[in-house]
Amino acid sequence: MFITLDGIDGSGKSSQIERLCDHLTATGANVLRVRDPGGTAPGEAIRCLLLDSNLEMHRRCEALLFLAARAQLVEEKIRPALEKDMIVVSDRFLLANVVYQSIGSDISPDELWRVGEWASGGLRPDLTLLLDMPADAAMRRLNRPADRMESRGVEYMETVRMAFMVQLPRAAHATAIIPADRSIDDIHQDIVAAVREANQ
Ligand code: ADP
Repeated sequence: MFITLDGIDGSGKSSQIERLCDHLTATGANVLRVRDPGGTAPGEAIRCLLLDSNLEMHRRCEALLFLAARAQLVEEKIRPALEKDMIVVSDRFLLANVVYQSIGSDISPDELWRVGEWASGGLRPDLTLLLDMPADAAMRRLNRPADRMESRGVEYMETVRMAFMVQLPRAAHATAIIPADRSIDDIHQDIVAAVREANQ
């Protein structure tokens, strides 16, 4: 089974993925946790390029680097693990690319889905969980005090949040929105229930 978690920064993806993987392992499953982009030697090298603020890149160049890293991750790690009946849990996948690379650019979500699905060799998650919460609350979690926060920053993240909602249904065979402005335990319970339901 292939599960991905997504959402805006600060929505709690890493915290919940850790909990979910621990839970799945405790139930006897073999679990592979990956992060996208990254997770392979070429992927980590590409991740460095993407994080290098000295490199000016066209949006299409940026999008293709994300897709290239994912192509490697899918073939080197995810597909072999799925073939061994492992549960793969990924921090982000194609959905995040479609959202971030289409906002404020002339690349359409449709194009990104099409090229992105090709780059992933047609591999689609069985379940994508979207951790959803107001952008200002998520930004507060990241220790960025409100007085240092540009209001455009929050507005931009709200746009991202809405785009996640719009694109989510196309992301996986099954999808669910998990309200994330709650306690870590409550969110975890919902995630476990969604995984159980998708696995039936
Ligand atoms: P993401 O991976 O989506 O950016 P993280 O899991 O790294 O989010 O969480 C961002 C910050 O918020 C961390 O400091 C984390 O401890 C905290 N955090 C995560 N989930 C919650 C929650 N449900 N309530 C309060 N704080 C949280």
